[in-house]
Amino acid sequence: MIECIFTLDYEISGNGEGSLKELVYEPSERLKTLFEKWNARFVAFVEVAELEMIDAQGSDLDIKLVKDQIRNFCREGFELGLHLHPQWYGGRYENGKWLLDYSEYNLCTLSRTRIDQIVERSISYFREILGVEDFTPFSFRAGNWLFKPTQPAAEVLAERGIKVDSSVFKGGLRHQHRLDYRRALKNGNFWEFSDHVDVPDADGLLLELPIHTQMVPFWKMIQPKRVNVQHIGMGGGQSWRDKLPRLLDFLRFWHPLKLDFCCMTLVELTNMMDAVIQKDQQKPSSFWPVVAIGHTKELVDFETVEAFLSFLKQKGIAITTLEAAGRKVRQFAKATI
Ligand SMILES: [Zn+2]
Repeated sequence: MIECIFTLDYEISGNGEGSLKELVYEPSERLKTLFEKWNARFVAFVEVAELEMIDAQGSDLDIKLVKDQIRNFCREGFELGLHLHPQWYGGRYENGKWLLDYSEYNLCTLSRTRIDQIVERSISYFREILGVEDFTPFSFRAGNWLFKPTQPAAEVLAERGIKVDSSVFKGGLRHQHRLDYRRALKNGNFWEFSDHVDVPDADGLLLELPIHTQMVPFWKMIQPKRVNVQHIGMGGGQSWRDKLPRLLDFLRFWHPLKLDFCCMTLVELTNMMDAVIQKDQQKPSSFWPVVAIGHTKELVDFETVEAFLSFLKQKGIAITTLEAAGRKVRQFAKATI
């Protein structure tokens, strides 16, 4: 049984440039209206660190709109996941610009004490926004998908009540940050893990529901819509020194193309889902939660998103959340013991 999960990274991200209203609030509001029309729900991966810092500094007064929107998501049955770019916490706001602390770019390379502080702080702010004292996000996505080294971060997150991670994209490779998810290509549709996010462990601390990818030849990565939309999302200003490691990542024939509802064309989205359906028909799975990704700042083509929702309905593929899918996986596990 295939189900589809739409996850939306809810953030300004990049170097902190841009307005909350344009890059976060407005696109999310349009997507929410669209999903409500189709009686579907998505997962908003709220990047809590930047929101808390923007709120504290008063650097963008539309933080009020954003906080109201998060409360509305919660009230109307959208899932709120925890997304973290820890470089914001040590950031400074000077002369109208954010100077982020890149020594804390990857949560997983920090000390256990620091990881614990950051996770606690982020959940506290989430609770403050929602006015719900015991709110605990069910799912987590690491900033820039960096969930390596996996320990002790996985242990800290599990202790704080997180159940599901959705940071892995099979086949992923980023030289600069030593991210290598190629080993996950041989994994199933989901798995539990403890020591390594990409290595299944039957008694794992967390459940991985990976972002869906398909390995494609490198030229398929250079598609006009993707290049345009991702250029908007970059926030500009990348130097050659920053770009070089990314170019190294591209020196291979096969690349993981993420199921991205903001960057892909309708043909790409439906072709990728058709390939999933075909694979599932050849070798039926008990459950295949297919996770799609999008970013608020790259969300401009709502027509394609709506046409894709219509395609999924036509194919009888239900839209679910990470929380519902995670619970379903646990039920299957219990049934087979
Ligand atoms: Zn992010």
